[in-house]
This record gives sequence, structure tokens and C-alpha cells, in this order.
Amino acid sequence: MVIMMKAMEIYEGKAKKMIPLDERKFIMEFKDDATAFNGEKKAQFKGKGWLNAQISAKMFKILEGNGIKTHFIGVAGDNRLIVERLSMYPLEVVVRNIVAGSLKKRLPLPEGTELQEPIVELYYKDDAMGDPMINHHHAKALGIGEDELREMESIALRVNEILKEYFRERGVLLVDFKLEFGRNERGEIILADEISPDTCRFWDAKTKRSFDKDVFRFEKGDLISAYRELYRRLS
Ligand code: ADP
Ligand code: UDP
Repeated sequence: MVIMMKAMEIYEGKAKKMIPLDERKFIMEFKDDATAFNGEKKAQFKGKGWLNAQISAKMFKILEGNGIKTHFIGVAGDNRLIVERLSMYPLEVVVRNIVAGSLKKRLPLPEGTELQEPIVELYYKDDAMGDPMINHHHAKALGIGEDELREMESIALRVNEILKEYFRERGVLLVDFKLEFGRNERGEIILADEISPDTCRFWDAKTKRSFDKDVFRFEKGDLISAYRELYRRLS
């Protein structure tokens, strides 16, 4: 199963607008809206869209530089990127290095425990169902082949290695993150969506302070200051 957005209609999601530029490209516009707990908690933070667009662009450039195929084509203004239009897999691929978030409900390990090896998890992307966690058998029932799953997981682990090291050099721990993938017209599996503090957990290596959406989820201070600090570490 892959999801293809309608020909030239604008799609407005929770965090972004996808504006068709032509048959092959979208403008991906990052909004200032923040949502958490499956949309139950909502707010707006002026400047979040800009920060997430700039941080995502930087992440995609680093990954492209390391041989990962991404949908990123370019930056198109303050909070907009130009991306390749893909048929999306309805999956969220999560990679974890340190115990946090929902993993605490699955394993008897306290927050902050370093995992011996990264854990990869698959979720079926569906707000109404609350994004249930699925395994390879469930994914196959959705028409996603074993080889496609293995390729997505392998790219996700490679992304983890590249970004973990990049952030480590900047005094930041990459705790966990979520990726989405799509297929292009040539049938290639391409890394899509965003890589930002909305979709990753970043902790200061020394203080373990969060530079990500947990600041909003758990009211740990000012979201824009935290996102700005992460952006500063990249510059
Ligand atoms: P949501 O739909 O979960 O509310 P967003 O607000 O982030 O999420 O909207 C972005 C939407 O665009 C998501 O549904 C995502 O799967 C999709 N998407 C991301 N990159 C691409 C792409 N290159 N081609 C087509 N769709 C994409
Ligand atoms: N994540 C995401 N979108 C989702 C669910 C999770 O971007 O719909 C990210 C989240 O920000 C974190 C990682 O995936 O970096 C793991 O999230 P977790 O399963 O712990 O869920 P959470 O407690 O964050 O909802």
C-alpha cells in the first residue's frame, strides 16, 4: 500500500502544508502549529515553522552528502522547502538509541538507559487509529513487501549512524527519531517528510536538557528557545 496525494490539491496536515508545484514537486511549508498526544494538545509558536524548515534542510543536506537518497530539492524561502513528490508508505519508522517516550511503556528500562543496539519500530500512520505499532507481518497485510521493509529499516539505521555522530560532535545526544519514506516514479525508496525537533528527541549531552517537542509535550520551558539552541549547535 502506498498513498498518493491528489493531483494538484493542497494538503494541509498538522505541522505542514504540501502545495503542489508541478507534477513532480511539492512546496513543503512548515507551520507554526504544534500538536502532541495524537492532536489532543495544540498550540502555536511563532518561528517554529522557520526553525523546522531550516533544521530539516540541513539534515537532508548532510544525509545526501553521505549517500542517502532524500526528497529534498532546495529551500524556497523562510519556512518552505521544495521536495520531490512521492507515493508515501503509510508508515512511521522509529529508531531509538536511548530509552524515552513510549518505549518506557514497552520495556522495563528507565528513561535515559542507553540501548546496546538501536531499536527500530514500525507504526501504521493513521491518526484515527492512534498510529498503532505494527510488525512485518502486519505491514505485509498492507501490501508492503519484506524487501521494501528491510530497505527502509536499513536506510533508517544508516541515517541513525550519520546523525548520531553529527550531533555527538556538537554535544547533543540523538535519543530517538521518526522517519517516513515514499517511492518515486523510478520505484526507488526515498527518505521523505521532515527531520526536526518535532520528530526527533535531542538531549544536551551534559545536562540532558531537551531541545525538542518534549518541551511542549511536558511543559519543560520555552519551545522556541530549545529549538533555537539546537539550530545554533548546527551552525
Ligand atoms: P500529518 O499528515 O501527519 O498531519 P504533516 O502536517 O507533517 O503530517 O503533513 C505532511 C504530509 O505530507 C504527511 O502526510 C507526509 O506523509 C506527507 N509527505 C511528506 N513528504 C512527502 C513527499 N515527498 N511526497 C508526498 N507526500 C509527502
Ligand atoms: N514521533 C513522531 N511522530 C509520531 C510519533 C513519534 O515524530 O507520530 C517521534 C517522536 O518525536 C520521538 C520518536 O518518534 O522522537 C519516538 O516517539 P515515541 O514512540 O516515544 O512516542 P511519543 O511518546 O513521542 O508520542
